[in-house]
Amino acid sequence: MKNLYDIIIVGGGPGGIASAVEASIFGLEKILFIEKGENHSQTIRQYYKDAKRVDKDWQGQSVDMEGNIEFFDGTKESTLEYFELLLDNENIDTVFNCEVDRVVKENDLFTVTTPQGSFTAKNVIVSIGRMGKPNKPSYKIPPSLKQVVNFNPYECRGREKILVVGGGDSAVEYACQLSCDNNVTLSYRRESFNRINDINLEMVERYDQEERLRVRYGIDIDSIENEKGKVKVNYNNGFYTIYDRVIYALGGTTPVDFFRKSNMVLDEHDLPVINEKFETSVKGLYIAGDIVYKSGGSIAMAINHAYHILQDITGEKGGLA
Ligand SMILES: Cc1cc2nc3c(=O)[nH]c(=O)nc-3n(C[C@H](O)[C@H](O)[C@H](O)COP(=O)(O)OP(=O)(O)OC[C@H]3O[C@@H](n4cnc5c(N)ncnc54)[C@H](O)[C@@H]3O)c2cc1C
Repeated sequence: MKNLYDIIIVGGGPGGIASAVEASIFGLEKILFIEKGENHSQTIRQYYKDAKRVDKDWQGQSVDMEGNIEFFDGTKESTLEYFELLLDNENIDTVFNCEVDRVVKENDLFTVTTPQGSFTAKNVIVSIGRMGKPNKPSYKIPPSLKQVVNFNPYECRGREKILVVGGGDSAVEYACQLSCDNNVTLSYRRESFNRINDINLEMVERYDQEERLRVRYGIDIDSIENEKGKVKVNYNNGFYTIYDRVIYALGGTTPVDFFRKSNMVLDEHDLPVINEKFETSVKGLYIAGDIVYKSGGSIAMAINHAYHILQDITGEKGGLA
C-alpha cells in the first residue's frame, strides 16, 4: 500500500499546518498534508487585507500556547512567511490544488477521496475552516428560484422532477439516491464519467440502463429561468426542459456537506460531536480549527487543537521538542 499514511491532514490553514508539524514532532513518519488551494492558508491569503495586523489574542480571545508551536502577533505577510517556514519539513508530503471530497473509514483505515485519486491513512485530521462554498455555474441563478435551486439533496421531499448537474462522485450519488422517489435526470457536459470511483461508475450505468434515471452526456446549460415557480433549463442544443428542482454538484462543498459525507454524527448546530481531544464520532477522525466552533476561533486556538489531537493519537504527552 504505497499510499498508506500514518496521518492525513485535510485543509492547509493554521489548524492543518499545526497538525502536520505536530505530527512530525510527535514522531509520525508518513504524513500527508492536502490543501485545495494552490498554496497553504487560503483564508488568510483571500480574506485578510495586505499588511493587515494579525493578533494572537484575536477579538479578545486570550490564548496560552500549549503545544510545540509558538504563535505571536504579526502581519498577514509575516504570518504567511512563518507558516511557510514551519512547513519546510521534509517529513511532510504536501499536495496542493486537491480538494478532498470525503473521508470514510473502512476496516480500520480511512480512505480520503479526492478528484486526483484516493489516499489511505490510519488517522485523519480535518481542518477545512468555515469558508467553504459550493461552486456555482457561470450563468446567473434567478434569486426567485432560491428554494428550488440547491447545491445538495437535503431539501428534496420526493415526487419531484429533478435535474442534477455535475460529473463527480457527489453528482452521481445524489442522482442515484434521489431516483428512488423522484424523476431524476443527471446532466454532464462531458461525453463520459472519467473522475468517479468504480462503484459509482457501475451504479450510474446500471441505473441508466434500468431506466431508474436518465443520464444526458455531452450537454451544457446556457441559462436557467423562473417558469411559474419551476426551473426552465435552456440547454446549449437549443432545447429546454422544465424541472421542479435543480441540484448543482460542481464541487466546492460546504463544511456540513463534508461532515455528512464523512459519516460524522452532528449536533443541533450541524457541528461534529467531538470529545475533549477533538475526536469525532468516528474513531481516529479528528477536527481542528474553526470547524470546532459555530462561531469564533482563532489561529492560536487552531494551533492548540493540533497539539491535543497528536497527544491523543500517539498517547504521548509532549512530543520531542
Ligand atoms: C478577515 C479575517 C481576519 C482575521 N484575523 C485574525 C487575526 O488577526 N488573528 C487570528 O488569530 N485569527 C484571525 N482570523 C481568524 C482565523 O483566520 C481563523 O481562526 C483561522 O484561519 C482558522 O484556521 P483553520 O485552519 O481552522 O481554517 P482556515 O484558515 O479557514 O483554513 C482552511 C483551509 O482548508 C482548505 N480547505 C477547505 N476545504 C478543503 C477540502 N475539502 N480539501 C482540501 N482543503 C480544503 C482551505 O482552502 C483553507 O486553506 C481572521 C479571520 C478573518 C476572516
